[in-house]
Amino acid sequence: MPVCLIALGSNQGDRQATLEAAVARVVRHPHVTGSAVSRWYETTPIGGPAGQPRYLNGAMRIDTSLDPRGLLLFLQQVETDLGRQREESWGPRTLDLDLLLFGDRVLAEPGLVVPHPRMAWRRFVLEPAAEVAGAMVHPTIGWTVAQLLDHLNTAKPYVAVTGPIGVGKTHLAQRLAAAMSNSRLVLEQPDWDRLDAFYADPSGLGLAMELEFLEHRARLLGDLDRSDSRWAISDFWFDQSKAFARTWLPKSQQPAFFERFEILRGAVVAPKLIVQLDAAPRELLSRVRRRGRSCERRLTEDQLNRIRCAIREETEPCGVGLVLRADNGDPTAVFQQVLAALRAMD
Ligand code: ATP
Ligand code: CA
Ligand code: CA
Repeated sequence: MPVCLIALGSNQGDRQATLEAAVARVVRHPHVTGSAVSRWYETTPIGGPAGQPRYLNGAMRIDTSLDPRGLLLFLQQVETDLGRQREESWGPRTLDLDLLLFGDRVLAEPGLVVPHPRMAWRRFVLEPAAEVAGAMVHPTIGWTVAQLLDHLNTAKPYVAVTGPIGVGKTHLAQRLAAAMSNSRLVLEQPDWDRLDAFYADPSGLGLAMELEFLEHRARLLGDLDRSDSRWAISDFWFDQSKAFARTWLPKSQQPAFFERFEILRGAVVAPKLIVQLDAAPRELLSRVRRRGRSCERRLTEDQLNRIRCAIREETEPCGVGLVLRADNGDPTAVFQQVLAALRAMD
């Protein structure tokens, strides 16, 4: 029978009584057998409107013969029965029940995404969850719940923003740094004239240029260890170098690149969070045209799309770490989402 993990939260009314009533309802369901419930944790609200009351959060693990949709519908019924109204996003509520994990199932349907896409960087979720389900494996990240919590506790406070050319990496990194006191901005700031020559003749200059970029990125990230500031925020991700190399370099030059990549990668700081920005190729092209850098004037929609897909592939495998994916439609919404994620990790 599938083992499921549920997050509970309340910040209105008698919070503890509501959470306990919700637990009782879930446990009584005829298709729920075993269960384990965490303690209640008082937490500070993150995101949403200012001045919300504090939350009480918890987690429960259950065995159930319901299917994922049936379980979610039931949880929503419990929310409604215990007085939840439809409110603004991330606003105060008497009860919030989120389905975090459903065995090892991975679902992305309208109104039902499992694993819950924001669970991995939320301390208020992982602390109670680790109490009842530390050994459960997050099926797309490949880490247990206990490992996810350990990552929040031990990873260096470093966030890497990645994505294709023109997607707005630098802009987002700058905005995050401005919003977070005591943060440090790490910008790639390439030599545009060198890039001019590169784009004019990618196959001739490609390997030398890509290696140059790689060394430059490794140097920038090598400095992080000595930094004492709270969060470091870079407008690149070291591993995106691989995606660019696979896109630009002829096959014959790739082994030399990857050999150097592996050596340097061993010494760079791994991000606590990777933010992957994305946009449609046409949108990327129009942004690149608008900013009008001479080195980028030859870029085609097809090339932008190839880089975009290569970066997406780079972030997909189990074990790359925590990835926050944002299709950069509204830069302000993306900024707020990332800021909330960083605050939730503290
Ligand atoms: P967050 O999801 O960031 O914690 P929230 O809990 O405040 O925010 P809600 O307003 O409660 O968000 O839910 C918004 C929608 O999310 C619901 O309509 C629901 O259908 C959908 N949803 C998708 N996947 C899940 C899931 N795994 N658990 C709960 N709701 C989900
Ligand atoms: Ca929630
Ligand atoms: Ca919810």
